[in-house]
Amino acid sequence: MAGKKVIITGVPGVGKTTVINEALSKLKSEGVEYKTINFGSFMFEVAKNEGLVENRDQMRSLDRTDQKRLQQRAAQAIAQIPGNVMIDTHASVKTPKGYLAGLPEWVLREIMPDMIILVETDNDQILMRRITDETRSRDKEGARAIAEHQEFNRSIAAAYAMATGCTIKLITNADHLLDLAATEMADALR
Ligand code: AMP
Ligand code: MG
Repeated sequence: MAGKKVIITGVPGVGKTTVINEALSKLKSEGVEYKTINFGSFMFEVAKNEGLVENRDQMRSLDRTDQKRLQQRAAQAIAQIPGNVMIDTHASVKTPKGYLAGLPEWVLREIMPDMIILVETDNDQILMRRITDETRSRDKEGARAIAEHQEFNRSIAAAYAMATGCTIKLITNADHLLDLAATEMADALR
């Protein structure tokens, strides 16, 4: 049987990577395995080798044509990976020139996901998480701007569902309720 392709999205700082790791450890004990792929890491590997950036958070300010080229290469490489694959990425990337689709038509055509998960939570919780995360260079923006980005992600996810027939699963990763989010994600992946 062909593997399942699941895409996990959510605005920076919502806790995608954390929920993914929790969900996968739950599934592993049941013998359900997914490879986790970080889309941004595939892009960053190439961008760094080309001398375009020094850290992954600089990529969203690159020229749009560079971002799209890196995105296309990453999609082609990820499409080759067999088995159940979970792709940690973004429904849209907030660039200085506006929202860039994270899964434009040529990326969707490569990957053909079965499901897209949107990890969400309250805008002020995301704001606090970004302020306290010292490992990343997160965008500094207010709760209103974060709300706009989360709303935009829901809209663009609807377009992705139309283009591929995949399902869209919304999961809330609220403060102190990581286990609930991870359980919901594991249920969706099983
Ligand atoms: P992350 O570690 O998931 O926050 O991703 C780091 C960076 O990778 C993002 O800020 C984007 O610049 C880039 N990136 C990740 N996924 C995509 C995508 N699907 N399309 C375009 N850029 C992406
Ligand atoms: Mg992450």
